[in-house]
Amino acid sequence: MAEPLLSLRDIVKEYPESPRPLRVLTRVNLEVMPGESLAIVGPSGCGKSTLLNLIGTLDRPTSGAIIFKGRDLGAISENECARIRNTEIGFVFQMHHLLPQCSVLENALVPTLVNSNSGQSVERAQKLLERAGLSDRAHQLPGRLSGGERQRAAVVRALINQPSLLLADEPTGSLNQDGAEQLARLLLDLNREEALTLVVVTHSMAIAQMMDRVLEFRDGVLNERTGTHE
Ligand code: ADP
Ligand code: MG
Repeated sequence: MAEPLLSLRDIVKEYPESPRPLRVLTRVNLEVMPGESLAIVGPSGCGKSTLLNLIGTLDRPTSGAIIFKGRDLGAISENECARIRNTEIGFVFQMHHLLPQCSVLENALVPTLVNSNSGQSVERAQKLLERAGLSDRAHQLPGRLSGGERQRAAVVRALINQPSLLLADEPTGSLNQDGAEQLARLLLDLNREEALTLVVVTHSMAIAQMMDRVLEFRDGVLNERTGTHE
């Protein structure tokens, strides 16, 4: 039986606020199998970004355990967390966060600066840029690209180190419908071709329904909306 890539067990997250802590996640349980695609939906402020930040080791839960590839993320060193964050998990945000003074290709290579093997990285970047329909944009600055092209460049950068998990936080939030559909299709193609596991936060039900599973946030808890893999 296959092991989950990611398990969340009784995750609680509170932010220190006065007069009392703000409890955002009250009890989140989730299992994600390798190669799955999963959408998370829910109203603004319900804790979607909080949850992605916890999964991505950018923050730690107040209580509960996050198991990634069989390892309890709460029990490993900050260094090891940083390594996982850089090589095993890719991030895409609503805003592309590309470096404006670097070309698309250079941006794609930024995450490879910490671990060398640059020859192979350039090759992979070019392959991914082609996959994302950006081959002819490789040497342009992000400012010259459309919003959709920038987001696709951000996806290429997120995948350059071949992570097994891609976390995307409203990746289509700044795009028009065409751009959004194109980006979603790219993510799903990569999901199928590279067995990339996808966790996508989105406001768009159209995009959510393209994924294998849709989970909905309500009152700090995640509920399955369609289908189950149990
Ligand atoms: P969503 O992504 O679903 O819109 P967030 O996870 O960003 O929701 O935020 C959930 C709640 O937690 C909101 O009430 C927000 O104000 C609060 N929050 C988020 N980050 C912090 C933080 N670093 N410190 C304090 N409160 C926070
Ligand atoms: Mg958010």
